[in-house]
Amino acid sequence: MPSEFDLIARFFTRPSRHAVLGVGDDAALIEPTPGRQLAISADMLVAGRHFHADADPETLGHKALAVNLSDMAAMGAVPRWALLALALPEADEAWLAAFSRGFLDLAEAHGVELIGGDTTRGPLNLSVTILGEVEPGKALRRDAAQVGDDIWVSGELGGAALGLRHLSGAGLLDSRDALDCLERLHRPQPRVALGRALAGLARAAIDISDGLLADLGHILERSGVGARLELARIPNAPALARHADLIDDCALNGGDDYELCFTAPGTRREAVLDAARAVAIPVSLVGEIVHAGGLTVVDAHGAARNIQARGYDHFGPGSPPV
Ligand code: ADP
Ligand code: MG
Repeated sequence: MPSEFDLIARFFTRPSRHAVLGVGDDAALIEPTPGRQLAISADMLVAGRHFHADADPETLGHKALAVNLSDMAAMGAVPRWALLALALPEADEAWLAAFSRGFLDLAEAHGVELIGGDTTRGPLNLSVTILGEVEPGKALRRDAAQVGDDIWVSGELGGAALGLRHLSGAGLLDSRDALDCLERLHRPQPRVALGRALAGLARAAIDISDGLLADLGHILERSGVGARLELARIPNAPALARHADLIDDCALNGGDDYELCFTAPGTRREAVLDAARAVAIPVSLVGEIVHAGGLTVVDAHGAARNIQARGYDHFGPGSPPV
């Protein structure tokens, strides 16, 4: 049976390139770029709550880092360093090899260095801390939306939630749609390049992890404003064209897409489109920030639709007990 230290050395230690001191000491040492602010965030994935214990380990490694990169994207920060705290029921080397491959391949693709963490025996649990850098004053904060701002969404929404439904109720999707939606669910591509292109250009941003209505709701609350969303402009994942009855549940209230929702002054509309084109990530103009009064969703005829935001609350009434 390999020791904890063998496991760390084999699966989580790579030559240090950006850090002054990486894995192996009591703490890592980093040299932040002078004049930049550090953006720091942590996210925990718990077996049985965020994923199935028998989930594919490579996919899990990808997703554990992807959700953290997505937080950097939503801040407009450049992700640079990550820490990984792992609790594992046993030292399963095949599992660890696949998990670390998923994690480190994505880290490499984003120029992020794994500089430390913790490895212990326990109920399967993955906790990632990520550090990034952003120019002072350019971070995309939830509290920065202003009345009159355009509201934008990147990519397409609802595919991940539709994939999750497909998994829990077999036969929902044909094989092509299933492939597409499960890819969106399991291997989200964090919109880091878009976040960077928007830093200093957009005002507020959030990544869509709990559903557009719930996550936009966080911007509205923190900014003290309201919003008017146009249902017909919301970019649905292609499979929703064949499951129109699920658009509200999946595109508006479905999580896990990890697209960005952001606001920008109406005068910067062309600049936003140029920025998105430059990083080859599509964006859609979906609504407008208005004075306080909550979130109104209007249909193609301008009539208000009554759709409640149902974001996920881990301690809310719909959340199963431990
Ligand atoms: P300590 O006893 O000081 O907490 P550990 O024995 O837990 O040190 O860890 C040894 C080294 O390995 C440290 O540099 C720690 O950051 C790193 N480390 C432990 N687990 C991981 C992991 N899963 N991924 C990356 N680095 C890790
Ligand atoms: Mg330790």
